[in-house]
Amino acid sequence: MSTPKDAAAVILLRQDTDPTQPEIFWVKRSDKLAFLGGFHAFPGGQIDASDSEVEVRNAPSTEASAMISGAARELFEELGVLATHGGDLLTKGQRVSLLDDLESGRMSWPALLKHYELYLDANDFTFVGRWVTPPFNARRFDTWFFLVNCPPKQEPHVVPGELASGEWIKARDAYESWLRAEVVAVPPTLHALQTLAGGLTNDLVERFLARRHARGETARRIEFRPHYICFPVRTPTRPPATHTNCYLVHTSEELLIFDPGSPYEDEQQALAQCVDELIAEGRKVREIVLTHLHPDHVGGVNVLKKHLGGSVPVAAHRMTAQFLTDVQVDRFIEDGEEIVLTGEPRIQLRALHTPGHALGHLCFHDDQRGVLLTGDNIVGLGSVLIDPPQGNMSDYLASLKRMGELPNLSVLFGGHGPAMATPYQKISEYISHRLEREKNILEAVREGAGTPKEIVERVYTDVSPKAYAMAERAVLAHLEKLAADGSVQLEGNLWVAS
Ligand SMILES: [Zn+2]
Repeated sequence: MSTPKDAAAVILLRQDTDPTQPEIFWVKRSDKLAFLGGFHAFPGGQIDASDSEVEVRNAPSTEASAMISGAARELFEELGVLATHGGDLLTKGQRVSLLDDLESGRMSWPALLKHYELYLDANDFTFVGRWVTPPFNARRFDTWFFLVNCPPKQEPHVVPGELASGEWIKARDAYESWLRAEVVAVPPTLHALQTLAGGLTNDLVERFLARRHARGETARRIEFRPHYICFPVRTPTRPPATHTNCYLVHTSEELLIFDPGSPYEDEQQALAQCVDELIAEGRKVREIVLTHLHPDHVGGVNVLKKHLGGSVPVAAHRMTAQFLTDVQVDRFIEDGEEIVLTGEPRIQLRALHTPGHALGHLCFHDDQRGVLLTGDNIVGLGSVLIDPPQGNMSDYLASLKRMGELPNLSVLFGGHGPAMATPYQKISEYISHRLEREKNILEAVREGAGTPKEIVERVYTDVSPKAYAMAERAVLAHLEKLAADGSVQLEGNLWVAS
């Protein structure tokens, strides 16, 4: 598990905004970003070593000083807004040239402030929380959030690059757009929007800090979309992943639990507690649903079922049931089956049999909210292993193609890692990555590499030798597909081009 890196973000308040309906500036992150691409967020980023060289007046600590300095730098770099004192004497043109000095590296942030006699004052940066990225991600941040009034005569604009767009919006409207499943955002963003939607009250900061997750404690429940709780649990899974996502899909009356995968007691207890909370609010657990048979997706099923009194049915595809030894499947889910939850709002999931990673693999599609639960067919962290005989490359590519043809997708919830806000882009990347591999493998066979081992050495130059055994399994899956396509064949122990 990686150590979180220090980061800072700015919630920029519009000048003279209506305190009962405050407007903030939110941004959409570029689709190309590996970390939370396509998400709505606030400007911010990782702290630089030089951020701590800036002297911030009235800062309560050297740590806070570095965070404020970093927040101000990110705000300037991403939106062109300079939240310094002395800056009001600068013209817009001067600010643009300062930004160019900083971006081109001609001047460091501390040198730039010094040179133009600008200074930062901690009183302009209201601390409103500190959030740590959950450990399901390889890149983690410990982010300090600051509320900052946009300085007079400055207008934020998105500097193209990490961000795709940005706009002033009433916090309430932004929050409602999340409720309508129009945007994807992480918990601190949502919490800020929801808190600000209550107005700039005297107890605003207290309301911001009321959640313990706003004080550095890692959040367990992550709602990228309303009614879909992602609850990552630690599992013995494949690196770089360390966790498997359990999903809790709920209406006012019913709850579906997908993939309670942890075999560890502490994690099982944490999940059971979350389920109990949802039950205490008046819901009934409808079923425990399995996307596929792998141990990191089913490791906590029996314990959770027992915790729930033993009568909650476990549902999965019949081919999952057929190969599962330790877990009993009580109901089969067929391709195309609709699961409709009772209660508010209406949630309807359609099951898709999508083999490739495993024979009985299922995905679940909520057409109305643009959600696709992708299981291990597409993941937000690491790569997907296609390991024969459960794994089948022809099936996998067909499944990916089918997923990509679904209408109205706006978010993918994978079995590992954060949600993905660029569904179609992600699916086509997965397909082209596999086709590229296939092309290289066929080429290697034509050049005389006859065993998976020889092929891996030629083709998987981007993979560490430690992962070669795994890569050989993937090559075998590709070879089986190429054989089915008539491009290669097995002669004795060696693969040759047909
Ligand atoms: Zn799996």
